[in-house]
Amino acid sequence: MNTAGTVQVAVRHILSDKLSGGFLRPRTRTVTWKDSHFVVKRPASGKHTVELTCPVCSASLLAEVRDHSSTRTIASVLLVLAVLCLVAFFAAFAYAVHEGGKTLPEGQSLPVLFSVSVITIFVTFVAGPTVFLRSRGYIGVSMLDAPKPRRRHHIMSVRKAPQGVRTP
Ligand SMILES: [Zn+2]
Repeated sequence: MNTAGTVQVAVRHILSDKLSGGFLRPRTRTVTWKDSHFVVKRPASGKHTVELTCPVCSASLLAEVRDHSSTRTIASVLLVLAVLCLVAFFAAFAYAVHEGGKTLPEGQSLPVLFSVSVITIFVTFVAGPTVFLRSRGYIGVSMLDAPKPRRRHHIMSVRKAPQGVRTP
């Protein structure tokens, strides 16, 4: 969708980030934001810095933009990592089921590798989807400098909903 020379990004101005509940009710986090779209130029090679001004609060944000080919390389590396996590997850899972299902002789404990496989299952279960989403959303633009005012900003890839309310 993005051409090689430019990339579309959204500067997300966080309007509010509230935590409610806690002691008796389940904790809920409600985030509201306003996205402003920008088209930034990619450098021919390497990376360069662009300045974006948030139209909501007129804060100046510095973003680092990578060239098209290294953006694609990083996105593919992240995708490979996600696939490796998936492979490791299933391998560790198969091993844990195999070892855990055995009836051990009296006085013998499960091998150390069993604990390692259980840890691998948990780690890859969390890391795999995270890395996969990072690779999908990676556009080679990252924020360098956030303004001092408390209101927070993010730079998003423009494939997500332009603005809204999220309650995870
Ligand atoms: Zn702002």
